[in-house]
Amino acid sequence: MNYRHAYHAGNFADVLKHVILARVITYLKRKPQPFRVIDTHAGAGLYDLTGVEAGKTGEWQDGIGRLHTADLPEPVAALLEPYLSAVASVNTGGALASYPGSPLIAHHLLRPGDHLVANELHHEDFEHLKSALHRVPGAKALNLDAWIAVKSLLPPVERRGVVLIDPPFEESGEFAQLTHSIEEATRRFATGVFMLWYPVKQEAAADRFVQNLKDLPQVKLLDVRLRVAAPFAGLGLTETGVAIINPPYGLEDELALLLPALTEILGDGHDADFRLSSFGI
Ligand code: SAM
Repeated sequence: MNYRHAYHAGNFADVLKHVILARVITYLKRKPQPFRVIDTHAGAGLYDLTGVEAGKTGEWQDGIGRLHTADLPEPVAALLEPYLSAVASVNTGGALASYPGSPLIAHHLLRPGDHLVANELHHEDFEHLKSALHRVPGAKALNLDAWIAVKSLLPPVERRGVVLIDPPFEESGEFAQLTHSIEEATRRFATGVFMLWYPVKQEAAADRFVQNLKDLPQVKLLDVRLRVAAPFAGLGLTETGVAIINPPYGLEDELALLLPALTEILGDGHDADFRLSSFGI
C-alpha cells in the first residue's frame, strides 16, 4: 500500500467526489429517518494543505484552491453550500490551510441520530482518522480491509444511507475487485446509494467498468465524468469519474447545473469537458 491521499487531497477529483457526496447526504436529510454513511476507504480524515505532501504536488491549488476563490453564480453557490461549509469548518478565517476528507465532510453534514462508519486499512492513516473522529458522536473508525468491511457492514441497521467506495487504484485488478464487491453489496443493501469513485486513465477500461455496472440486475445508475485537461504523459490524472447507484431523484438535474460550472473553474482550456449519463432511471 503505497498510496497516500495527503498528496492528492483537495484536487479536482476530490472536489467532484466530495461535492457529490455532500449533495447525496443533503438528499438523505430530507427525510426524518436516520441514515448511515459508510466510507470504505476513508483516508486520514483531515489534510494539511501547508504540509510537505500537499506542497510536493500542489494538486489542491487547481482543485479546492480554484473553487475557493471562484465567483459562483447563485444557483451553483446554493448547491455547493453543504460542501463548502464542510471545507470552511476545518479552516479559520478566510484562508485555506486544511482540507477535510470524505469522513469529515460526511460528519459535518450529519444530524444527531445519523451515523458514520469510516474504514481505513493503512495503519498510519487509520491512526490519524481515529484521532479526527475521537469522541465524535455517531462516528466510528475501523481498520479493516475494505472488501471485507463492505460485506460485514451491510445492510446498515437504519436500512438507509450511502456507501462511498473510493479505492486508491494503485494495483491492477481494482476495477474487477470493485465490480465484484458492488455485486455483493447491492444484493445485501438493495436500496442503498452507492458512490464509486474511479480514475479515467484508459477510457476503454473505465467504460468497461461502467458497462459492467449497467449489467447489474435492475440497476439505476448515474455516471459522472470530469476531464480537466487532455491526457498527457507525466501530467498525472486528468479525468475522473463517479458512478452513483440508486441516485436520489433530482441529483441528475443538480449535476447538470453544477458540472458546466465545475468544468469551467477546474478545467484548463478547450480539452476540459464533462459527461453525465444515466441508465435505468
Ligand atoms: N475517501 C477518502 C477521501 O475522499 O477523503 C480518500 C481515500 S484514498 C483515495 C484511498 C484510501 O484507501 C487510502 O487512504 C488507502 O490507504 C486506503 N486503502 C487502500 N487499500 C485499502 C483496503 N484494502 N481497505 C481499506 N482501505 C484501503
